[in-house]
Amino acid sequence: MNRRNALGMLAGGSALAGAPQQALAQASRGLAPLKITDVKVILTQPGADNLVIVKILTNEPGLHGVGCATHRERPLAVATAIEQYLKPFLIGKDPEAIEDIWQSAYVASYFRSGVTLNNALSGVDGALWDILGKRANMPLYKLLGGKIRAAVPLYTHASARTLDELEDQVRKYIAEGYRHIRVQLSVPGFATYGAASQTAEAARRARPRGVGDSPVFEPTPYVNNTIKMFDHLRAKIGFDIDFVHDVHERIPPPQAVQLAKALEPHRLFFLEDPFAPEDVHWFGILRQQTTTPLAMGELFVNRNEWLPLVQNRWIDFIRIHISAIGGLSLARKVQCCCEMFGVRTAWHGPGNVSPVGHAINMHLDLASFNFGIQEENRFSAVTREVFPGAPEISGGYLYANDRPGLGIDIDERAAAKFPYRAPGGSRGNDRRLDGTIVRP
Ligand code: MG
Repeated sequence: MNRRNALGMLAGGSALAGAPQQALAQASRGLAPLKITDVKVILTQPGADNLVIVKILTNEPGLHGVGCATHRERPLAVATAIEQYLKPFLIGKDPEAIEDIWQSAYVASYFRSGVTLNNALSGVDGALWDILGKRANMPLYKLLGGKIRAAVPLYTHASARTLDELEDQVRKYIAEGYRHIRVQLSVPGFATYGAASQTAEAARRARPRGVGDSPVFEPTPYVNNTIKMFDHLRAKIGFDIDFVHDVHERIPPPQAVQLAKALEPHRLFFLEDPFAPEDVHWFGILRQQTTTPLAMGELFVNRNEWLPLVQNRWIDFIRIHISAIGGLSLARKVQCCCEMFGVRTAWHGPGNVSPVGHAINMHLDLASFNFGIQEENRFSAVTREVFPGAPEISGGYLYANDRPGLGIDIDERAAAKFPYRAPGGSRGNDRRLDGTIVRP
């Protein structure tokens, strides 16, 4: 009997049940200690996004885990950090020592808490939790305390060029079962975030001499257009559907305060990223000014960025991109901390989170009392071929498949069919009329 089978018998309630600790010791005696034997980085692009997946192998035949280390814009930097630094650090270690590995890898670079090393650590951390779940013969959500809900409610994205088109999309999603919808609308004549750019010739002509060509974003027309959008949607759709809107840190803080106050009668589910991470202390001011619920955090990489917002109850939803802070081990602590302060979770979940990352979001969502909502990403047939076991979406909910561990794997042969088309990407193409760069 190999080690996995021996432990599987324990989980299955064999003759050893009743004295599990003693039985565990007996079952383990005489077996080679479990060790990490290899760490692989798999780079694949089955859709629009450059994904980075970590696969950790062990000395038990067939026992491996996968984790998400995806930083879409700078994936090769993450891959180098894993291959050159984390892999030699991990070979030979016990994959069940998850907390010790996380804490020791976190400080191994001395300088820490940057997005590259956090993502690298996340890939390792997720793979170790996957291995633990497989050994325990339990889905990850059980290791986190068990399901507190049957499935995960999702919000989907509606994005359009015109108000009528947006309203049609919203109605379509409501008919599909969604109760939470993110709404983004093109700004006539200008570029914006989350909807098609409509930079008009008039805007280009309004620029001073010497500005290169680029899409034009201006905060004032964006703010006015967003208020008009909610006026329209609430008049046509009513108030029984929850709307989300993402400012994406694009406007000066005082205009974000004006926008949040102006949207108050429209009772949003949340207004996302009204400020940039560099301006988070504005939340203390905004909180005193408006009842509009506030969400923040997809760019956070360091606990000093989110902790004051949570402990002061300045935000209502934490939007962290889990791989960017170092993965599940830390995200679980963030979630527990938020629960103590009445802040709900809304983990970042668009296409630049790999399906493995989405699986981690889902397991945490299933087991968190202070879950708020989960951002949806629909997986194509091609993506599902690369990631067998990717969570299922139906009627506005995400469902776990109940396999041990994360319940998802990577088919390396399928992944190899979709190599990177470019070594990452860059953001920040929009500029103000005068040529100043705008946050992405
Ligand atoms: Mg966002």
